[in-house]
Amino acid sequence: MSARAGGQLDAVVVGAGPNGLAAAVTLARAGLSVAVFERSDQIGGGASTRELTLPGFAHDVCAAVHPMAFESRFFREFGLRSRVPFVTPEVSFAQPLDGGRAALAHLDLALTADDLGRDGRAYARLMKPLVDRATEVAEFTGSTLVRMPRHPLTVAAFGLRSLEQGSPLWNARFSGEEAPALLTGVAAHSILTQPSLAGAGAGLTLTTYAHAKGWPIPLGGTQAIIEAMAADLRAHGGTIATGVDVSSLDELPRSRVVILDVTPRALARIAGERMPRRYRRAMESFRYGGGVAKVDFALSAPVPWANEGVRRAGTVHVGGTRQEMAAAENDVNRGRMPDRPYVLTAQPTVFDGSRAPEGKHTLWTYTHVPAGSSADRAEAITRQIERFAPGFRDTVLAVSSRSAVEVESHNPNYPGGDIAAGAPTLGQLIRRPTLGTEPWRTPMRGVYLASASVSPGPGVHGLAGWHAALSALRHEFGSGAWPDLSPRG
Ligand SMILES: Cc1cc2nc3c(=O)[nH]c(=O)nc-3n(C[C@H](O)[C@H](O)[C@H](O)COP(=O)(O)OP(=O)(O)OC[C@H]3O[C@@H](n4cnc5c(N)ncnc54)[C@H](O)[C@@H]3O)c2cc1C
Repeated sequence: MSARAGGQLDAVVVGAGPNGLAAAVTLARAGLSVAVFERSDQIGGGASTRELTLPGFAHDVCAAVHPMAFESRFFREFGLRSRVPFVTPEVSFAQPLDGGRAALAHLDLALTADDLGRDGRAYARLMKPLVDRATEVAEFTGSTLVRMPRHPLTVAAFGLRSLEQGSPLWNARFSGEEAPALLTGVAAHSILTQPSLAGAGAGLTLTTYAHAKGWPIPLGGTQAIIEAMAADLRAHGGTIATGVDVSSLDELPRSRVVILDVTPRALARIAGERMPRRYRRAMESFRYGGGVAKVDFALSAPVPWANEGVRRAGTVHVGGTRQEMAAAENDVNRGRMPDRPYVLTAQPTVFDGSRAPEGKHTLWTYTHVPAGSSADRAEAITRQIERFAPGFRDTVLAVSSRSAVEVESHNPNYPGGDIAAGAPTLGQLIRRPTLGTEPWRTPMRGVYLASASVSPGPGVHGLAGWHAALSALRHEFGSGAWPDLSPRG
């Protein structure tokens, strides 16, 4: 590591995940000298793509589907949509049920309601006010919650619906199984107890995007998003060094600002004695949630879902009814391994043939497990998929399986396999990781936190990095202006 020739750097960023790179791009676009240091041999963190099974099969190591790619304020400023080719499945997500039935979340809300039969109108009434104001929902959920909302009516509509779907009254408006299962399939992304207020809020946010602009998938894999950010950074003078595991602030070249894309736990270790005692207590009391076991498949054919509509979905939530998925998730939250787990799957090669040899496919899956579990969940996941796609097992050419412990050893930002980098409970969404209008700024001069452990939380959206960089520009460089991030800038 060396400082830029001729003197100190303006900014150093630790970690080249989407948030680290968003911070670096924003600072470089403000005309500052920026150096990024990444511990892995590949940039991207939770947004990278690798050949995990067989040659020619490109798998997303973590994130695969990008509900926030078109709604994140950072990505809109960055013009992501014009820099990276995306495909947006017409069915954003699907929920297979026994007997060949399924519920489908089409991009078109009216079509979704039609498909849901007798619960269709109730589903549309739940979602329409949010879908009509998707950009306002994205603004409200895309920063710290400790702020006066600019669109109080949208916040009220969102809050009331979250209260309903996050309470034991969650079935009150429905009479069938399809619509409730469709909603819980998304709420369960949160790895929280079901029903819960924060889980419902996360689910409604993602469902809103599903019916507003869809859940897009980048052609070639998630790495394409990262490469676009890295290319912009380099074009504006920034540098990235890989294979550099930063263990102390003292190892870094001199700079006015350090932005860290790490967890509060790692920040406390890296800052050492420089961290004030009170802030250290806050960092050490930050709680991490349940873990994830990840299983990737190379397939000889597409997944033979019993329901034809499910074959057209980008994402498929596997786990049966609302009650079944809630039971599985509540087991995980009590530290138990569910027999019939809730499984998230994505089938990118149905839409993007470039990721596998001709006629072959990949399937991306993960399931929730108790934090720190070393269990291999490949067989449990295969069994659940086989339940809704008989013959699936016969299509499997190769499997790559990672336990929650291995997810953490691959990337320390996921303690115990917690891919949210901190339980996204209501308390920890308000205080993420501290209470205040600028949680990205630490009490250490020039030191900022920019990972998914900070508001607004998990997901590939770059917002924590962007907010941290804007905060640093304001406080360390006296600039209140937002740098132009657009491709022509
Ligand atoms: C299995 C899985 C599936 C997911 N699916 C989705 C999905 O489909 N859609 C979605 O939007 N989100 C998904 N996510 C979540 C998403 O990937 C993360 O929320 C997002 O990547 C967080 O970005 P980040 O920049 O905060 O952290 P990360 O992406 O984790 O990046 C942190 C980077 O910092 C580096 N680093 C850490 N410590 C150090 C150090 N001391 N020195 C140097 N470098 C360091 C790491 O190696 C890493 O590259 C998934 C995550 C996982 C793990």
